[in-house]
Amino acid sequence: MNNIITLNHGSGGRITHDLITNLFLKYFDNDKLRGLTDSTIVDFPGGSLAFTTDGYVVDPIFFPGGNIGKLAVCGTINDLAVSGATPKYLSSSFFLEEGLSLDILEEIVKSMAEEAKKAGVSIITGDTKVVPKGKCDKIFINTSGVGFLKDEFRSIGDGLSVKPGDKLIINGTLGDHAIAILASRESLKFETEIISDCATLNSLIQNALDVCPEIAFMRDATRGGLATVACELASKTRTGIILDEKAIPVKESVQAICEIFGFDPLFLANEGKVLMVVPAEKAEIVLKTLQVNPLGIDAAIIGEVTAENTGKVVLKTITGGKRLVDIPAGSQLPRIC
Ligand code: MG
Repeated sequence: MNNIITLNHGSGGRITHDLITNLFLKYFDNDKLRGLTDSTIVDFPGGSLAFTTDGYVVDPIFFPGGNIGKLAVCGTINDLAVSGATPKYLSSSFFLEEGLSLDILEEIVKSMAEEAKKAGVSIITGDTKVVPKGKCDKIFINTSGVGFLKDEFRSIGDGLSVKPGDKLIINGTLGDHAIAILASRESLKFETEIISDCATLNSLIQNALDVCPEIAFMRDATRGGLATVACELASKTRTGIILDEKAIPVKESVQAICEIFGFDPLFLANEGKVLMVVPAEKAEIVLKTLQVNPLGIDAAIIGEVTAENTGKVVLKTITGGKRLVDIPAGSQLPRIC
């Protein structure tokens, strides 16, 4: 049983990380891949590109706030944008199950085109494969992307200039995407419908970079949630991170469902949330700038980088206690993206 792939290998948690380092890195090893950043930086005479790729297998393929196609465009654009790059071009590969309705495929492709246009990105190459009925689940999509990267932003992806005293900012509420998927999967009905936060963040991020080119680190808090991003950052930069639970925005409806299902919003997937680490003296202006954008209305300063507890994330709880936050091994919600 230990020698087979399980759903937990796709969770984005510790088991995924182990698979990447023990298998993919073992054979593909090179200095670019080793950084394990959202995008890799590719240099050529006269400039640099950020390059990234992602697969999408979300179930169900339509959910409140989006569908698998919108997700595939937003996710790849966001992986470029959080690396400080200006997203430019995407590829798109479709893996289709025999029997999929052409109307459904058209709806998915249409929303991909709409999202790409909104973000100023063109889909310039692609591929289509069809497998017999039952050999995949309706539709899977892979998107790759490239963006132009200015020299001054090249350390944002790996967070190497993060230092004690820097502030952590999130652009809004946590867990909306995961709970929207859970609700549509389980056909749960709530008084107020929970809508996925699936969105392209490149214009919001550009606004923040305009007022604070010194942003030390950014990452979108997708699979594994904010907690996983914070843990990876602390471990990579050999700093400590303290998170203030009281300051972390979570919708009441999401919190209520988390309590029923025993989920922690810190670990839930988002598709329109970015964690930014900024110098303390720039935190207020970045916060104000985010809050003017509809995608940042609920932005908040949620923590700080510390010199103590290196490599660890500590949560200051609502009740005033402190507890260590650790990356979970797997996930209770597979096929979230
Ligand atoms: Mg990412």
